Amino acid sequence: MRRVLISSCLVGRRVRYDGGAKTVVDDVLERWRAEGRLVPYCPEVAGGLPVPRPPAEIEPGATAADVLEGRARILTPDGRDVTEDFVAGARSTLATARARGVAVAVLKEGSPSCGGNVVYDGTFGGHRVPGEGVTTRLLRDHGIEVFSEDELARARERLDEFDRA
Ligand code: SF4
Repeated sequence: MRRVLISSCLVGRRVRYDGGAKTVVDDVLERWRAEGRLVPYCPEVAGGLPVPRPPAEIEPGATAADVLEGRARILTPDGRDVTEDFVAGARSTLATARARGVAVAVLKEGSPSCGGNVVYDGTFGGHRVPGEGVTTRLLRDHGIEVFSEDELARARERLDEFDRA
């Protein structure tokens, strides 16, 4: 059975930097849960970061690919370099996705790990810019399709297509 990797914070686990969750209630998720398809995972916790933890952003002007290729960092507001933890979390997520037969992922939009379309701009001023998180980039680089929590209908369509193939 093809499975769906999902950001833990979207299914109610209190793993976000501020100690909270971002629970999404949706029929698509309920169906996947009932079918045993959901694989909840938090890349940042998997990478060794605590809950709660300081916020972190990809440094200004850089992309997730830059971070994965060692050309840019992920920093906290006081300048602590947490790049290694984020990259370790991304690698751990990819390994889990492969081991569990994941075909698509639904990851929390805006996160420096999980964002799929936008991230924060690295200034900690609350400004979002087009981009993706490092886990999202790594999964996409290895053929796993990533959708945000706002794209559940598309994620369901893709999973149904995989099932019919
Ligand atoms: S790393 Fe991803 S799963 Fe973990 S709290 Fe952040 S958005 Fe949620």
